[in-house]
Amino acid sequence: MTPRKRLIIFTTLFCISFFIFTSSIILGKHLTFEAKVEATTLNKSSYRIHREKISELSIKSDIITDSFLKKDVTQPIYLTFDDGPTEYTEDILEILDRYEIKSTFFMLSNNVLHNPTVVQAVKEKNHTIGCHGVTHQVSKFYKTSSSPLDEMNTCKTSVQSITGEPVNIIRVPFGSFPHLTTSQKAKLDQAKYVMWDWNVDSNDWSIHNEKKMTKSVLDQVQKLYKRERVPVILFHDKEVTVKALPTIIEALKNLGYEFLPIDEKDIPVQFKIQS
Ligand SMILES: [Zn+2]
Repeated sequence: MTPRKRLIIFTTLFCISFFIFTSSIILGKHLTFEAKVEATTLNKSSYRIHREKISELSIKSDIITDSFLKKDVTQPIYLTFDDGPTEYTEDILEILDRYEIKSTFFMLSNNVLHNPTVVQAVKEKNHTIGCHGVTHQVSKFYKTSSSPLDEMNTCKTSVQSITGEPVNIIRVPFGSFPHLTTSQKAKLDQAKYVMWDWNVDSNDWSIHNEKKMTKSVLDQVQKLYKRERVPVILFHDKEVTVKALPTIIEALKNLGYEFLPIDEKDIPVQFKIQS
């Protein structure tokens, strides 16, 4: 082999090695970040995806396309409703009854005390009740290292005074990132609270059009499906949610999703906590 040929081979090998090396570093960083954010989003205990039955999920316009409706899969999904009970909670319960599905309600302490019959109805229908605190204000809820725990304890007492049962599942206002500190989280963990965030935001607090909201939700579910994540959808007990809910449920049912109430033993979806 001539020196020239040797040089060409060496240079080629060097370039290939360098490419593989840099790619692995970039990919590694990406995967590490993804793992941190999403490591807790897979509910292995109940994740029953039938991958081979799905070709694609797509929504191409404001309405749901046929291809989105024809799927035959079985996989879990969690619907969650925050900030209630409100004047719309009973409508939501009626819709859930109509479709014979269960969900989870993260309630605010004062709303619990003002609407005891609704709280009781949620319990009797076997939906899960979680606590969402008292003040729902960032400046108060996250004020000290123990304020989140104090608010959840107050909320728990309120629910328990009506249902007779303790509440161990919680969602902190506005989600755990970026407000909840590690020490606040540690106190909640010590008290055996199981904290849930979400990975699908219905945006029902900002979108006032039920068609837009439906499209947004189903788009997000589609993205999670491609990444094999169990969807946890954030809703609020609001009028637009009541309007959009039947269409969303029908679409998800037709896709084969199984609607589950959150169970204490389920692996929670949590955002990454700041330190
Ligand atoms: Zn809230």
